[in-house]
Amino acid sequence: MREISVETIIDHVKDMCIESNFVLSEDIKEALDTYKSKEVSETGKNILFDIIQNAEIAESDRVPMCQDTGMAVVFVEIGQEVYIKGGLLEDAINEGIRRGYSEGYLRKSVVKDPLERVNTKDNTPGVIHYEIVSGDQLKITVAPKGFGSENMSRMKMLKPSDGIKGVKDFVLETVSLAGPNPCPPIVVGVGIGGTIEKAALIAKKSLMRDIRSENPLDHICQLEKDLLEGINKLGIGPQGLGGLTTSLGVNVEVYPTHIAGLPVVVNINCHATRHMSRII
Ligand code: SF4
Repeated sequence: MREISVETIIDHVKDMCIESNFVLSEDIKEALDTYKSKEVSETGKNILFDIIQNAEIAESDRVPMCQDTGMAVVFVEIGQEVYIKGGLLEDAINEGIRRGYSEGYLRKSVVKDPLERVNTKDNTPGVIHYEIVSGDQLKITVAPKGFGSENMSRMKMLKPSDGIKGVKDFVLETVSLAGPNPCPPIVVGVGIGGTIEKAALIAKKSLMRDIRSENPLDHICQLEKDLLEGINKLGIGPQGLGGLTTSLGVNVEVYPTHIAGLPVVVNINCHATRHMSRII
């Protein structure tokens, strides 16, 4: 067994909470640049320029790229040969979030009870997903999630006969209904299959994937391309003020499902798509 101390985990999670809020990932930066040169709307072009400049200032001045610094979503892949020394893994992750949001002066956006709505004042707890894998390493991905975009996500239990057309219609309808609310240009994550919670989980996980990558399955890769093209024909544009650039990328993940169902979840990320991974 390989030992990893809780202090090491706390430090990495703290750093990732701060860094992911300050530094936009390369795939999004590259896509913003590409779409800026393709955008036909003058207003849209100017907004894309502002978004790029905002990201540059955030990175150089070490300030958050958006006032909504998100609820911390954390994906953990833990090798079966890893032993966590000195405490509980979950406590360590939450302590990392607590320190990251405090030391990085990031907005605390979490309420303890969804109905009583009292702020926990330290942005904990995070939403943590665990996966047990082979090996002796620990991979942690931190993804601060703003709720302007999270609130625009939708799920639907389609009939199997709805097929690929049903999936496409639902995704396009979801992006249409969202309009300017998720701060476009957006990244669209789609989870298809499994059960309702599995579809939601893989939709979220798809947003962790580099938007320059493609799903390895040919028909799903084609679906990603078709959806991106369809979304960018909706005319919503940067910040919803019209134009060609509504989405920078669509990532789709699939999972086996029941003969009687076709669950679909659309999880939307704004242009401030934040995620960072480290392998310990
Ligand atoms: S949707 Fe994204 S860019 Fe818009 S306010 Fe929320 S975190 Fe910020």
